[in-house]
Amino acid sequence: MKTYRPRLIIDLPALARNYQTAQARRPKAETGAVVKANAYGLGIAAVAPALAEAGCRSFFTAYGFEGVTLRKSLAAFPDCQIYILNGPDPDTINTFHKHTLTPTLNTLEQIALWREQGRGPAILHIDTAMNRLGLSTEEARSLLADPTLTEGLEISHLISHYANSANPTSPANEIQWAAFTKAATQLRTLFPRAAQSLSASGGLFLPFITNEHLTRPGIALYGIGPQDIPEPSLKNVATLKAPVLQIRHLHAGQPVGYSGLWRAPAPTTIATLGIGYGDGYPRHLSNCGHVWLGGARCPVVGNVSMDLTCVDISACQTQPEVGTLAECFGPHVSVEKIAALAGTIAYELLVNLGPRVHRFYQE
Ligand SMILES: *Cc1c(COP(=O)(O)O)cnc(C)c1O
Repeated sequence: MKTYRPRLIIDLPALARNYQTAQARRPKAETGAVVKANAYGLGIAAVAPALAEAGCRSFFTAYGFEGVTLRKSLAAFPDCQIYILNGPDPDTINTFHKHTLTPTLNTLEQIALWREQGRGPAILHIDTAMNRLGLSTEEARSLLADPTLTEGLEISHLISHYANSANPTSPANEIQWAAFTKAATQLRTLFPRAAQSLSASGGLFLPFITNEHLTRPGIALYGIGPQDIPEPSLKNVATLKAPVLQIRHLHAGQPVGYSGLWRAPAPTTIATLGIGYGDGYPRHLSNCGHVWLGGARCPVVGNVSMDLTCVDISACQTQPEVGTLAECFGPHVSVEKIAALAGTIAYELLVNLGPRVHRFYQE
């Protein structure tokens, strides 16, 4: 089918396979799924039920309002747990009760708030290396020193987050695992039944096996290698395509796009694609990205503009026509590579894909 809009094709069976791959890497643990930021841009309304269908029962988002959307998306799966990573604040705490959302408590303030106004269990987050969010080791110790701070508090899981799991050979990973185990062991004097969870996607691909009850992969489910390079055991889930809007033949020396950033060095055929930074296709790909079109890798020429991007199609095996779809990333063009060329990571590329990009779901 031809389209004149950019489209993102989401392969739901591949998503389910990646969930199973994540599960197989920690057969003794429950595999959760992180679906924050609209399931990394792929669309939570379709992604969450597909993961639930694959067996997932624990979902994570960052905000309470994302949890509300998720609860609706999971209406057919009322037994799913929804965890909110950024935790409650005084203005949103009622949302947690109304939609049965389980918060992560990251600060002493959130612990106090949940004790006063919360209902039901919560996750306790200990920061063991990021220095970003979660209780510091000193704060965790203060809880042990003063049990009144946690009186009545029900903690289902103790969690932490790897800082260096994109680098699997870094000794920091095992050091962090040890620090987390130590903190969790101490905190279990207060919360004897608390399970533990450390691994996001990167953690699942570390060269040592850890003892955890729940894992929290996000990016790996969406087919992206957690080490910022393709991971062969994961299936491609997201394919971004853009239609050819016009084809033109340039003489040597003719410029393309804003500021004439690129000039044809010789007679060149170019195609103008219907995609640009207004869709989340990074402007940093100007003169350095490429797409897959007509059976060939076609370089981006000139500046990427808001709605349009030009590519050199001189090398095409089959001549594209108006309406032919170029693959911006997907099975022929790795999203990790395109992200690197744009000076970023695949996570950012995915979540920046805007609402103009039409999402299509393959069942
Ligand atoms: C985002 C996030 C994850 C998922 O990370 P991926 O690298 O996408 O697997 C897991 N845990 C926490 C606390 C997160 O913030």
